[in-house]
Amino acid sequence: MKDLSNENIIQFEKNGVSYLQFRKLNEYNKYIRHAYSLGKELNYKTRAGNRNLSENEIEKAILAYEKLCKNIDIEPINIVKANQKHTANVKVAREKINKDKMDLFEDYYKETDGLVTNTPNLALTTTSADCISLLFYDPVKKVIANTHSGWRGTAQKISVNTVRKMFEGFKCEPKDIICCICPSIRKCHFEVDEDVKDIFENEFPSLMQMKEIVEKNEKTNKWHIDTVLINKLILEEVGLKPENIIDSKICTMCNSDVLHSARVEKPNYGLNTAIIEKI
Ligand SMILES: [Zn+2]
Repeated sequence: MKDLSNENIIQFEKNGVSYLQFRKLNEYNKYIRHAYSLGKELNYKTRAGNRNLSENEIEKAILAYEKLCKNIDIEPINIVKANQKHTANVKVAREKINKDKMDLFEDYYKETDGLVTNTPNLALTTTSADCISLLFYDPVKKVIANTHSGWRGTAQKISVNTVRKMFEGFKCEPKDIICCICPSIRKCHFEVDEDVKDIFENEFPSLMQMKEIVEKNEKTNKWHIDTVLINKLILEEVGLKPENIIDSKICTMCNSDVLHSARVEKPNYGLNTAIIEKI
């Protein structure tokens, strides 16, 4: 498999399982564990995100999670999965709901796209295929978060909601928070029609005047939007330090041979998994 390692990311292959880690988060490997799944054999196909999974698909998903967890020293049973729905909702996970199995489809996490905790042994999990997963860590208060921010979540500023939740729940100072931006569809491939461009323009009028954020493709009459840069800028606005916002710099569509991309694999796309646990 090709190597996606760069100055921020390191790629591992163990027991036939490939995954990425952020070099920055690995500096804290006495306190946290994390990974972003790589390679298509690990993941499962689904018709519509996490909803409407058949028994067979659920079994495959559980096996995929188990395989990834075992290679990063996380107990698979610790998984706490957000039932993502492109919302801006962030919830605090206090404890495992099921003592004998993963928390996969719990009502408590219904319509939830971000999870925050300071409880050890809760493996906060989000999935995506082109959307951004954001992994947060506050090394001072020892609080973690995992947030799914697709273009809808980005337009609703779920990344900022996550920081707010970390502050309200655990007194995390934004200046201490590290935010790692997992692989996602990047400006090179995120092409949208005018209606989506207008949503961003209404939400971020000043940002959208920056050529770095939005560019019109005159040939296709569509727009390219940099949702990664938007997240960086709104996180800096609420007090995160630029050097604590770490970008994987990996486009899922440019690398759809090793990462799931909804736009490439549609309609039965698989999902990449982002996972973080406090030890
Ligand atoms: Zn690309």
